[in-house]
Amino acid sequence: MASQGFIIDFSHACIVVTGGNRGIGLEISKAIAKAGGKVAIVYNSSPDASEVADKIEREFRVKAKAYKCDVADSDLVSQTFLKIDKELGPITGLVANAGITIQKPAMEMTTQDFNNIFNVNVLGVFNTARAAAKLWTDRKYKEGSIVINSSMSARIYNRKGAHEPITQARYPFNFPVFYNASKAAVSNLCKGLAAEWAPHNIRVNAIAPGYVDTGIVEVPENVRQYINDNVPVGRFAKPAEITGQTVLLLSNYASYMTGGEYLIDG
Ligand code: NDP
Repeated sequence: MASQGFIIDFSHACIVVTGGNRGIGLEISKAIAKAGGKVAIVYNSSPDASEVADKIEREFRVKAKAYKCDVADSDLVSQTFLKIDKELGPITGLVANAGITIQKPAMEMTTQDFNNIFNVNVLGVFNTARAAAKLWTDRKYKEGSIVINSSMSARIYNRKGAHEPITQARYPFNFPVFYNASKAAVSNLCKGLAAEWAPHNIRVNAIAPGYVDTGIVEVPENVRQYINDNVPVGRFAKPAEITGQTVLLLSNYASYMTGGEYLIDG
């Protein structure tokens, strides 16, 4: 008998992907749809998000819909999740992927910069995770999987290894200090939520990508070259290369995995 291979079947799944309209999130939305899952794309301001969802619907013949919602707005997130649950759901999974960065020297960072970054990257992850968990715990059938898109920058500053501290002189761009701190915060949040919600059969894991070719990483050529020289595989990841681990964590194949953080860093 021919082998069926390793099949992830999301035909009974409805997964919310924040920032699912472009970059890494878009590839995750497509991977879920390819496995037969319904996709709710939560976006902030891109004018073409509904067209992106329509395109996914046509290409993969699953339901896909875009919902405009600032993840930093707790009340709006709660309302939006109820709406998604009613229109596309029941929601079975969440990819808390939306994130922003501000790249400038630490000396020039402002309180407003801090608030902007932490409101999206940390509070936004918490708001969406809680909204999903509330739906699941309110239901008779309690189960769900959350995947948080953190970053390798949550714990690593130096691609050559933590034992060899890197200096600004050797690193040709400024560390996005608030961004990195926000990612360290969500990696910790992941573990806390995983521990608290495990009795409800809600799993919470984080992925920690390295450098991925998307709009969030706009670097001059010399910086790109520097990064390529310091990443063992010698290049940035393509956004689609971040989907495998995410889909696995969402699926029942990962039923004993919670509170983990998985590097995808080449
Ligand atoms: P992009 O800039 O390409 O996409 C960001 C996405 O987040 C967009 O869909 C955007 O929506 C959405 N978003 C931003 N702010 C909000 C908000 N307030 N409410 C709702 N949605 C919002 O980034 P990437 O695809 O590169 O990044 C995705 C995630 O991956 C981020 O969390 C990032 O930190 C993380 N990551 C990225 C790496 C990289 O090298 N690219 C490496 C490691 C982690 P809209 O289009 O409407 O603005």
